[in-house]
Amino acid sequence: LCVLGVESSCDETAVAVVRRGDDGAIEVLSSVIHSQVVKHAVYGGVVPEIAARSHVETIDDLARLALSQAAEQGVGVDDIDAVAATAGPGLIGGVMVGLSFAKGFALSRGLPLIGVNHLEGHALSVRLTHTVPFPFLLLLVSGGHCQLLHVRGVGDYERLGTTIDDAAGEAFDKIAKTLGLGYPGGPALEAEAAKGDATRFTLPRALLGRKDCDFSYSGLKTAAAKIAMEQVKTPQDRADLCASVQAAIARQLVERSARAMRAFKAENAARTEVTRPAFVVAGGVAANKTVRAELSALSEKEGFDFVAPPLAYCTDNAAMIALAGLERFALMQAAADYDGDKQVQDGLSALARPRWPLDERRALSAPIHK
Ligand code: ATP
Ligand code: MG
Ligand code: FE
Repeated sequence: LCVLGVESSCDETAVAVVRRGDDGAIEVLSSVIHSQVVKHAVYGGVVPEIAARSHVETIDDLARLALSQAAEQGVGVDDIDAVAATAGPGLIGGVMVGLSFAKGFALSRGLPLIGVNHLEGHALSVRLTHTVPFPFLLLLVSGGHCQLLHVRGVGDYERLGTTIDDAAGEAFDKIAKTLGLGYPGGPALEAEAAKGDATRFTLPRALLGRKDCDFSYSGLKTAAAKIAMEQVKTPQDRADLCASVQAAIARQLVERSARAMRAFKAENAARTEVTRPAFVVAGGVAANKTVRAELSALSEKEGFDFVAPPLAYCTDNAAMIALAGLERFALMQAAADYDGDKQVQDGLSALARPRWPLDERRALSAPIHK
């Protein structure tokens, strides 16, 4: 089964071709990404209109490139069985560009189109490179999301917690901006933090003791801005603040993940096959070495296998969208009432959605895995 994937929900245009062999092995035949970071850097953040235009300008060439790279590996355009595109959540202009492109491609080749939830792509991305059985626990920490998800199967997700204000990556970016470190701020802040003393400044510990798995980073952002204004005079002060901020962000990720791990274990306690489940970290913040090290230590302590996919699949990419589409399509095809022609028709009416909670279908209908 071979799927062409398209991603355009934020500031990366991406196209990929992913194949699943009869033995279940996943092969990424191509995965190309055009990042718009330089276009948005001068504004200090993603400008939706600029993003949408850039997707329009880039997507044709990128698709050609992805298809030609796949062809070099012996998989031609005729070998593609289905098209998958991010249908949300994301910046609506960008989502519409990628989804419309995918519809055009699917229509011209008579292929089914699968509208994929971007978060489902992130949730399943680890399966591009690792054999991770269901259920597993996922921490998705990116620029736009900070969520803990109980991943029970394809199409079966339960959100255990989410941020009530900023995402962790957003906190890194905003605080870095306040400190004059440029955009995107995460990597720059990490580099500064390496030179600083993480015990220098005391920062607020939000939601401490709350019995859920939610996150909050806006109080930290305000506190950091206040310290920056009042106490940061030298480069060393700034490095110390960066180190303190990084430690505070990591600490909250650890605290909330620990709660989720316990909930996960309690729920799966009766299932003898779930002996050592995986704790998967995805999203750009997974690149942070302090965050990684602390989450890895926590996993060890709580009896989870720590799995962090390669960074190229942690941040936005189309291989994960192709995979999510592929896994979904395979389940549809396996269903007794599968109708190929209807699927082609349905795909063409898929809607672009700015908001789309991952566990919505769970609420609306029965899970489709097993
Ligand atoms: P989403 O996937 O939610 O739509 P996004 O595309 O902005 O959002 P990603 O591309 O997964 O998210 O990740 C980008 C985020 O990761 C940025 O906020 C960036 O600052 C952060 N990030 C990247 N590297 C690091 C690092 N080394 N330390 C901390 N944060 C980092
Ligand atoms: Mg991005
Ligand atoms: Fe993303």
